[in-house]
Amino acid sequence: MADTDDRNADLRALIRTIPDFPKPGVQFRDITTLLLDSVGFAAAIARMAAGTQGPVDLVAGIEARGFIFAAALAAPLGAGVLLIRKDGKLPGTTIAEDYALEYGTDRIAMHADALVPGQRVLLVDDLIATGGTARAAVRLLRKAGAMVTQAQFLVDLPDLGGADALRADGLAVDSLVA
Ligand code: AMP
Repeated sequence: MADTDDRNADLRALIRTIPDFPKPGVQFRDITTLLLDSVGFAAAIARMAAGTQGPVDLVAGIEARGFIFAAALAAPLGAGVLLIRKDGKLPGTTIAEDYALEYGTDRIAMHADALVPGQRVLLVDDLIATGGTARAAVRLLRKAGAMVTQAQFLVDLPDLGGADALRADGLAVDSLVA
């Protein structure tokens, strides 16, 4: 685990927990407090960039907080930004992927022409919980022909198993705070 020695304790201290949001029983890990801290946000981006292996053509960010980290990582990695959005938000022709929620399903989409097959894509989001969202994003990107071999998250909730599931899908998975 990336933070067993808690070398990211400075970042952990900048993330607050809001109980019972958006519904009772959920401990919401609120990263907006880290974004407000110029030193902490810059450190998070630098450490995510340092944990990325090899060249990356595109950083794929998952709506909405994933966009913030993907956009900030693009320049240091010399990559473009690919937006993975809730279905119905992108103006061009899209491809989509469904994934299961606790109750029902949701759908994410990307522009069908956003990448050239074979491009190396780093997947980024603020947090991985069950991994349902990230795994759907990987299926979507691979459907478009991307080489998706690694993912970066600010926060991992390891008890929910998402990072391990992504690893089983063949990705190297990094997070700064568990
Ligand atoms: P999952 O698909 O279960 O891995 O959920 C990941 C997505 O839901 C990410 O985009 C997170 O921003 C959000 N999310 C899930 N659980 C939490 C939580 N406890 N605190 C903050 N965000 C969460």
